[in-house]
Amino acid sequence: MSRDAASSAPPGYHEYFEYRRYPLRVPPLDNGVDPVRHPVAIVGGGPIGLSLALGLARHGVRSVVIEADDAVSYGSRAACISRRSLEIFDRLGVARDVLGEALPWTAGTSYYRDVPVYRLQMPMDENQRFAPMVNLEQCICEQLLADRAEALREIVEIRWQTKLAGLQRRDDGVELELETPQTPYRLRADWVVACDGARSAVRQAMGLRFSGSTYDGTYIIVDIHLKSDHPTERRAWFDPPTNPGSTILVHKQPRDIWRVDYQLRDDEDPEEAVKPENVLPRVRSHLEWIGERDDWTPVWISAYRANCLTLDGYRHGRVLFAGDAAHLVPIFGVRGMNSGIDDTHNLAWKLAWVVQGRSFAALLDSYSTERVFAARENIRHASKSTEFMAPPSRAFSLMREAALGLATQDPFFATLINPRQSSAITFADSPLNAADSDALQSGPAPGAVLAECPVETATGPRHLTELLGPGYTALCLTGDDPRAALATLRDLPLSVVWIAPTTIAGADAWDASGRLFALYGAAPAACYLVRPDGHVAGRWREARADPVRAAVRRALQ
Ligand SMILES: Cc1cc2nc3c(=O)[nH]c(=O)nc-3n(C[C@H](O)[C@H](O)[C@H](O)COP(=O)(O)OP(=O)(O)OC[C@H]3O[C@@H](n4cnc5c(N)ncnc54)[C@H](O)[C@@H]3O)c2cc1C
Repeated sequence: MSRDAASSAPPGYHEYFEYRRYPLRVPPLDNGVDPVRHPVAIVGGGPIGLSLALGLARHGVRSVVIEADDAVSYGSRAACISRRSLEIFDRLGVARDVLGEALPWTAGTSYYRDVPVYRLQMPMDENQRFAPMVNLEQCICEQLLADRAEALREIVEIRWQTKLAGLQRRDDGVELELETPQTPYRLRADWVVACDGARSAVRQAMGLRFSGSTYDGTYIIVDIHLKSDHPTERRAWFDPPTNPGSTILVHKQPRDIWRVDYQLRDDEDPEEAVKPENVLPRVRSHLEWIGERDDWTPVWISAYRANCLTLDGYRHGRVLFAGDAAHLVPIFGVRGMNSGIDDTHNLAWKLAWVVQGRSFAALLDSYSTERVFAARENIRHASKSTEFMAPPSRAFSLMREAALGLATQDPFFATLINPRQSSAITFADSPLNAADSDALQSGPAPGAVLAECPVETATGPRHLTELLGPGYTALCLTGDDPRAALATLRDLPLSVVWIAPTTIAGADAWDASGRLFALYGAAPAACYLVRPDGHVAGRWREARADPVRAAVRRALQ
């Protein structure tokens, strides 16, 4: 929510987070036009625009980010960052900073009234590098992304206090009309990516409309400052005695900020309900009931309504859409920002390769196909969570009551309470997938992301995902050096990584835990071709140049 958005006015985030204000920079103009023609202009410097700029920079492509505000976002927004987003942040060079601030967690408890009915346990085993979820306020996450962009300023330029007012599309590029507190000007770019959020000015200027549905139910989102040593976990109460008929969610965030979300009853007026005098007693009674008796102060109060909306396509000629500008998913299941970060990881290498002349522009259609599919999957899961968290009709309420009542007696019904937390989406039908003809017994199929596993290298222990190159990677799990078999592929943007079952001279890594080969069905050997965004493009029983070349060529000119 932007700083201007309607909300009641407790002290605000700046008490707990130092907002950096960025100055306006207007380039020297030629007749009201920026004389530089930019390869990529990104409209919106929220988490998605910034992640995309960092992703393009990683592939050596310069971008200019047009951001209306003079600072990162304000108010209650994303709190939970998924493991997949952390893997992406790692490639963008911000994971260490994010983990330095964030609170990791793996589990949660759901209660019906005061009875625990479901224990959420997210996938976490000894193979993982990152926790399945960490909590971090979106403003801090954005600041870390902005700091990283600042450090790469020779390739990422952010124009703060610069607002898109309109655009003209041409065959060879796009002209943006920009407004600033000083002077309006025009900027030309070969490609434009709209990352300007839910009310996207780009989407509106192009007359594009979302399709999907919106929910009537309202949630009140309250961030408070509370010192408590309760561990970080997700807690949900259905019909708690403190708020009969309502659902309450509680999450701990860094810097002693807690997120309390509760559902309004159908007969409540959201405008009245969001007023501090109506919110605070409700929060207080719940906190006291769960044993939090220390003093606390409200930080931010806002109202939220769930949407399940997406554009039907994310590529419109030379304009692409990502993040909330492209799709809106309910907050339950934490798929909004996380899926937007995944959009940028999918798009960055494809757009970079098109800009660099390696690939046809048609490669960008695969971005649209894959990420529209992902948005629909996210919407499907998030709608189920939303219907449980905020039943849209009396029939759904009755079903929920029945499931909750039965869950107190039979764990089978407890699975209906699963909040379906965000996870990476598999593109089983991607045009970039090679045929899966070698029938490996296990391991990620084409379209899936890599399963994580520790490996040993000459410089110490690493994880599999850390071995991936910026282009395609042929991950060869074998006792024999695969490089000779793949030697003819040197003209491709491909790195070959050899992982041996045991320590063998010349191997890049070896399976010290003894789990990797089994996890990847690699007895006696396997070759996985991995895309620059970590999705598997093909897998074979041995490393052979012809199928690998054919699979990489699907993405090239
Ligand atoms: C209460 C709440 C809780 C949430 N919790 C989670 C969660 O736990 N996990 C999760 O993954 N997601 C969560 N989300 C969703 C998440 O906040 C969004 O998905 C995310 O902010 C989308 O990022 P974005 O960069 O696409 O858009 P935004 O964050 O909206 O950023 C858009 C940027 O574009 C700029 N802009 C807008 N118009 C213009 C213009 N005309 N010209 C130039 N710049 C412009 C804006 O100033 C802004 O900086 C939550 C959302 C809410 C409201």
